[in-house]
Amino acid sequence: MDKLTPEKRSRLMAAVGSRDTKPEMKVRRLAYGLGYRYRLHRKDLHGCPDLAFIGKRKVIFVHGCFWHCHPGCSRASLPQTNVVFWLNKLKANVERDCRTLKLLRADGWDVLVVWECETKNCDALRVRIREFLR
Ligand SMILES: [Zn+2]
Repeated sequence: MDKLTPEKRSRLMAAVGSRDTKPEMKVRRLAYGLGYRYRLHRKDLHGCPDLAFIGKRKVIFVHGCFWHCHPGCSRASLPQTNVVFWLNKLKANVERDCRTLKLLRADGWDVLVVWECETKNCDALRVRIREFLR
């Protein structure tokens, strides 16, 4: 039996979808392993970045390839149905990402975008994160 009320359950499931996703956890573990400490999902920063290194004025976004339309990536292909719906939705996501990046950079933040598919290769990812944060 589910001990949670339907409302709490749906809130929990929604949170599972957007936060603590596996690719994001990999990035967090790598950054932590390299000795960096970070803040998560700071709402006072543009786009609420996944990881924020406040003292360094650097942020990392971990983007799902589908939701953020990773160019040229097989995971970013459109569903076969409701194509117009998805096109509009994903276009809005890309535009928001673009705005967020501009705003952060205008405020002097360095931004690294890590794509979901790039978290498969941990060694390459570790190198990128180390280069970005040093
Ligand atoms: Zn991808």
